[in-house]
Amino acid sequence: MKLYNTMSRRVEDFVPIVPGHVSMYCCGPTVYNYAHIGNLRTFIFEDVLKRTFEQAGYSVKHVMNITDVGHLTGDGDDGEDKMEKSARETGRSVWDIAEFYTKAFFRDEEALNIIRPDIVCKATDHIQDMIDLIKRLEDGGHTYTSGGNVYFSIDTIDDYGKLAKLNLDDLRSGARIEVDSNKRNPKDFVLWFTNSKFAGQAMMWDSPWGRGYPGWHIECSAMSMKYLGEHFDLHCGGIDAIPVHHTNEIAQSEAATGKTWVNYWCHGEFLLMGNAKMSKSTGSFVTLPVLEGEGYDALDYRYFCLTGHYRSQLKFSYEALDAARAARKGLVERIAAAKAVAEPSSQPSEAAKAYMAAFDDAMMNDLGAPQGLSVLWKMIKDGSLSESDRLAAAYHMDRVLGLRLSEASAEEGKEEAGEEELRLLEERTAAKKAKDFARADAIRDELKKRGWTVKDTPSGAVLEKNV
Ligand code: AMP
Ligand code: ZN
Repeated sequence: MKLYNTMSRRVEDFVPIVPGHVSMYCCGPTVYNYAHIGNLRTFIFEDVLKRTFEQAGYSVKHVMNITDVGHLTGDGDDGEDKMEKSARETGRSVWDIAEFYTKAFFRDEEALNIIRPDIVCKATDHIQDMIDLIKRLEDGGHTYTSGGNVYFSIDTIDDYGKLAKLNLDDLRSGARIEVDSNKRNPKDFVLWFTNSKFAGQAMMWDSPWGRGYPGWHIECSAMSMKYLGEHFDLHCGGIDAIPVHHTNEIAQSEAATGKTWVNYWCHGEFLLMGNAKMSKSTGSFVTLPVLEGEGYDALDYRYFCLTGHYRSQLKFSYEALDAARAARKGLVERIAAAKAVAEPSSQPSEAAKAYMAAFDDAMMNDLGAPQGLSVLWKMIKDGSLSESDRLAAAYHMDRVLGLRLSEASAEEGKEEAGEEELRLLEERTAAKKAKDFARADAIRDELKKRGWTVKDTPSGAVLEKNV
């Protein structure tokens, strides 16, 4: 398995700490709102990565957190707790908000056929683990208290910012205006807040430093180490986590243990809306239920994500999603046809095995999903393969792609005519009734051009997709 490691900025051979096993931590959602499809792109990438490891024969322990406290509206320590803000704006309690959006998130994941991580851990269930870690940092001389908050002092370590390749001299002399005058270094960050700008914060816990709540970054360090140990293989997230969140996670984890924390860092690129990152804060975002409401299947979106490499930006558009839907339906139709006449072969031919190997090679080479899809299509269209071989190869590939191909049914593969086509069909029926056969024929030709054949049946005219 080869993977691009953000830490080295190179594609590296993956060497696990324990042979045959992968320990993987992924930053989870902040549950103050629906996940948008940009967030979901990152979770799909992580799911495909985990499935690829499993296809390659590794067993994977996958841990993901749920951020239900401490994530401020600014990635630095500025702004307001996202959960509290959402609660205030909607008149609901923070706990209600967390429960509601956590459920909504897992509904989306299920619809996208994302395998649930082995361990899903909520920040609010792990406050004591965070306090213990902060205590350890305090004992090691890495913290200071100022203005009531406990800060991590980045000047107590000598490699702060190594993941993002931050130039600390530039940062110190830079023009960044620091909002928090309590900080000794502008890049220091809060481990524990007691002195919130937002008095009346609902989520508060007792701690050695007073009643308060944790900073955002400490949760991922505390929970990943609790479930995966102080040194594990792989940490994933979206690229926006590199400069602050993951940088601070590394600083505090390695300061606490005195050793390397994570071997491989993998980051997914953004989904773009227009030319900008899809983002909740700008309000310009789309959710999965919105797409489903427009008649798309969640798996159309999963297919769309697979058409781009995870390290490239992907531009969302309805045209591109339509193309993904058409391709996925074509695939489902083809598999359903094979299923109607054959069972997947238990001893695939050399040709089928070669397709499977080419697919695995593409995926194991830094997750080449677009190449993997093209191998799949080549195999689907290969007339020399038997239908049982085709099914065996398709199911093998789908263990990684996650498009639920083994559930393909002829019904689902059928494309439905759009509103305009149905209107034309009605108009043709009316024209025939009025004996305007020239008009009826013209409409039939128009529908043909649009890809639909009119079939007259005893119960009326219907449309069938041209083959
Ligand atoms: P959040 O719920 O805001 O904590 O984000 C969940 C995940 O989505 C994080 O790993 C982010 O890095 C990632 N993310 C946020 N915006 C985008 C985007 N436009 N495209 C892809 N991933 C994103
Ligand atoms: Zn995290």
